[in-house]
Amino acid sequence: MKTAGKLVVLGSINADHILNLDAFPTPGETVTGNRYQVAFGGKGANQAVAAGRSGANIAFIACTGDDDTGERVRKQLASDNIDIAPVSVVEGESTGVALIFVNAEGENVIGIHAGANAALTAERVAAQQQSIAGADALLMQLETPVESVLAAAKIAHENHTTVVLNPAPARVLSDELLALVDIITPNETEAEKLTGIRVENDDDAARAAKALHQKGISTVIITLGSRGVWASVEGEGRRVPGFKVKAVDTIAAGDTFNGALVTALLEGEPLDTAIRFAHAAAAIAVTRPGAQPSVPWRNEIDEFLS
Ligand code: ADP
Repeated sequence: MKTAGKLVVLGSINADHILNLDAFPTPGETVTGNRYQVAFGGKGANQAVAAGRSGANIAFIACTGDDDTGERVRKQLASDNIDIAPVSVVEGESTGVALIFVNAEGENVIGIHAGANAALTAERVAAQQQSIAGADALLMQLETPVESVLAAAKIAHENHTTVVLNPAPARVLSDELLALVDIITPNETEAEKLTGIRVENDDDAARAAKALHQKGISTVIITLGSRGVWASVEGEGRRVPGFKVKAVDTIAAGDTFNGALVTALLEGEPLDTAIRFAHAAAAIAVTRPGAQPSVPWRNEIDEFLS
């Protein structure tokens, strides 16, 4: 077993309430669904779980409410090989929720209540200064207040902790934040939001990557769904294809990719090997339904690659 570097993930926790129904209700209408399930999600938690299950030495900075859901989520995260000591329990708050309706065509409409995720403020991040400074990498997304992402990136940058940003969901970011990022992993939509360049082919991806390099980011990995990724280091880019599998749903594909990618990089793997490992983890996830239940363990990834 290799000794991996230390990873800190900072991000959101949600409980996803998923109701499948034939058709979405219209205003004023009540529709009875045919399947209901609660699954744990949130981009931060999904990426922490992907890292934990793929073998990282990982701690998670996040917030839950002081409700039953929070207690169950924390238990689940701990059983996924994650150090949850930096997860705060916010008094009087509910754990973040996503209310998801899925119709017969597989389309969804989603309403989110940030709940305790909104309490992950810059002050709470400052209280975790030591764990960020002592880590080898910090992995973040954009489902918690952007001030917390900026505060954590500053601490990491000052202490030579590699800053990895998955800029999801898509939003415009300040040059100040982007200049602190070492590795960025947008999908096509997020890359377009950040650069204004529509990514439809490899040439577009190369141009978007160049625009992100110009913001001061040395490694740009644009995920392209079933086509794999465009990986660009200091302006030298190439496409690294993914694995062909029968996709069931792509929920948490990007999250699984990110968690597994950073895990492999912290084991000292070269970028292309780490991308291949992350492609394998994400490919397994798309063959299974749901968010965290679909995220594979290390032995499954190793078996897939053997
Ligand atoms: P996001 O879920 O953030 O939109 P992508 O759809 O770009 O991200 O997918 C992220 C990664 O997941 C891809 O780079 C690839 O490794 C894997 N992936 C996504 N869709 C598929 C698919 N249909 N088949 C195989 N791998 C996939």
